[in-house]
Amino acid sequence: MKKIKKILIANRGEIAVRVIRTCREMGITPVAVYSEVDRQALHVRLAEEAYPLGKALPAESYLNIEKIIALAKKCQADAIHPGYGFLAENHQFVRRCEEEGIIFIGPPSGPMELLGLKTISRQKMREAGVPIIPGTLEPVKNEKELFEQAEMIGFPLLLKASAGGGGKGLRLVRKREELLSAFHLAASEAEASFGDPAIYLEKYIDEPHHIEIQILIDNYGNGVYLGERECSMQRRYQKILEETPSPFIDDETRRKMGEIAVAAAKSINYRNAGTVEFIVDRNKNFYFLEVNARLQVEHPITEMVTGIDLVRAQIDIAQGKPLPFTQEEIRPQGWAIECRIMAEDPFQDFLPSPGKILYLHRPGGPGIRDDSGIIEGYTVPIEYDALLSKLIAWGRTREEAILRLRRALQEYQIYGIKTTIPFFLRILDHPDFLAGNYTTHFLERLEKEPPAVPGEDLVAIMAAAVKAYYDSKKQGASLSKPRGNPWKLMGRIEFFKNRL
Ligand code: ADP
Ligand code: ADP
Ligand code: MG
Repeated sequence: MKKIKKILIANRGEIAVRVIRTCREMGITPVAVYSEVDRQALHVRLAEEAYPLGKALPAESYLNIEKIIALAKKCQADAIHPGYGFLAENHQFVRRCEEEGIIFIGPPSGPMELLGLKTISRQKMREAGVPIIPGTLEPVKNEKELFEQAEMIGFPLLLKASAGGGGKGLRLVRKREELLSAFHLAASEAEASFGDPAIYLEKYIDEPHHIEIQILIDNYGNGVYLGERECSMQRRYQKILEETPSPFIDDETRRKMGEIAVAAAKSINYRNAGTVEFIVDRNKNFYFLEVNARLQVEHPITEMVTGIDLVRAQIDIAQGKPLPFTQEEIRPQGWAIECRIMAEDPFQDFLPSPGKILYLHRPGGPGIRDDSGIIEGYTVPIEYDALLSKLIAWGRTREEAILRLRRALQEYQIYGIKTTIPFFLRILDHPDFLAGNYTTHFLERLEKEPPAVPGEDLVAIMAAAVKAYYDSKKQGASLSKPRGNPWKLMGRIEFFKNRL
C-alpha cells in the first residue's frame, strides 16, 4: 500500500483536532472540512487546509458523502479519517472511498456492513463461538412473535433497534403488560433515528458492567488487545465517564475477554482499530454486546496507560504497515480516567446549553490531558453533539488519577454556557465511586439523591466553601478520608458562577 501524505478529516470538534495532532506528528498534511456554523472552530484553525461543506444541517455537511468525496479528490487527499459518529460506521461511505481509490482509515466496507446491524453481528459472533446475550437473532416480525419470544426470554428484557447506536432505540420492559406499547415506541424511535424500525429482544442483565476491549488488527493477520475500559458510568445508556483498568475485572477475565475479542474480529476479517463491547454480569460472565468499528470517544484512556497513539496505529495499519508490537509487549501502566465535558445543564435534566464561550481557562499540570474542540469566543452550535472536551487524568494508582481529575475539574472554567463539570465533581465525591464499586445503574440512583443546589444562599455557600477549604488543608488530601463537602460545594459555586 502507498504512503499516506494527506488526510481529509471528515469530522469536527475535539476528534477532528485529535486526528490533526497525530497527522502533524507523522508529517502528514491534515485537511479540515467545516459547516457554516463551524467556520471559526478550532479544528479549522489548526488544519493546514480547510474547505467549507455548506449549511449546518448534518445531511448537508458532515453526513454529505458525495461532497466529502469530491473535496478529498479536489485537494488530492490519499486518505479520509472519519473520527467517530457521522460517517464513521457508514459502510456506503466506506464503499465510495474504495471505489474512488481513497484510503478509508478504518475497517473495509464488508465487515463494516456486517457490524452495522446488531442482529447480524450477533449471529456471526455466535457462529464464531463468542458468548452472546440470550435473545433473538432476527428482528421481531409481528406481535404474535413478540409475545412468544418475550415469554421464552423472560422479563425484564430489552427491546433494541437492530440498527441502533449512541444509546438510542433501547427500551427496558419489566412486565408483560408494558411489552406492546414499548415495542411500538421503540420501533418508531428506531425508524426516526436510523431509518430502520427493526427491533429485536435481549435478556436484561441486572446490575451489569459495560466493559469493552480495544483491539488493533493489521492486514497480515496480526491482532492485539490493549486492555479493557470500564464504561459503566452511563446516563440513559450513554457513557459519560470511563476508566482503565476496570476496578471490577481480574487478570484472568481480562485475558479471556481480550483473546475472544481479537478472535471475534478476525473471524469476520476485521481490520484496523476497533472496540468489542461486552456486558459483564455480577459473576463476571461476559456477553458480546456489539463491535464499534471505529475510534472510540474514550480511546485516550487506553493511550494514557499503554503509551500507544491509537490514531497513529490506525493510519499505519491503513497504509499497510504490520503491527509494531506483540501482545506480550503491551504492558499498561497506572490508571486513567476520562470525563466527557458536555454543553449541558446538569441542574436542568441535562438540557443542551449551546452558546458563546465568553471565557475559557483549561486545566493542565501533572497527569492531565484535555482533548478539547473549543476556544474562547467560539459559539457552540446547537446542531451537533454537545461534547466540548474530554478531560483525562493519569495516575500511578486509581487514587492518584481521581485526585488529579478532581483538581483539574476545579481548574476548568468555561463561562457563557452551562457544562457538566459540576456533575463530575459530584460523581468523584461519591463513596461508591471512590471504592470502585459501581454498575450501569449508578447514575440513575445518584440522580435520585437530593440535588446539590437551588434556593441556597450564595454567600452562605461561599462561606461554607471557604471554611471547608481550610478544614481540608488541615486534613490534607486523602481519599481514604473522603471529605465530601468542599468538592460538592465547589460544584455549587461553579453552578452559581455559570448563572451570574
Ligand atoms: P462511544 O462508545 O464511542 O461513546 P457512542 O455509541 O456513544 O460510542 O457514539 C459515539 C459518538 O457517535 C457520539 O457522539 C454519538 O452521538 C455519535 N453517534 C452514535 N451513533 C450515531 C448514529 N447512528 N448517528 C449519528 N451519530 C451517532
Ligand atoms: P448502543 O449501540 O446504543 O451503544 P449497546 O447495545 O451498546 O447500544 O448498549 C448500550 C448500553 O445499554 C450498554 O452499555 C448497557 O449499559 C446497556 N445494555 C445493553 N444491552 C443490555 C442488556 N442486555 N442488559 C443490560 N443492559 C444492557
Ligand atoms: Mg454500544
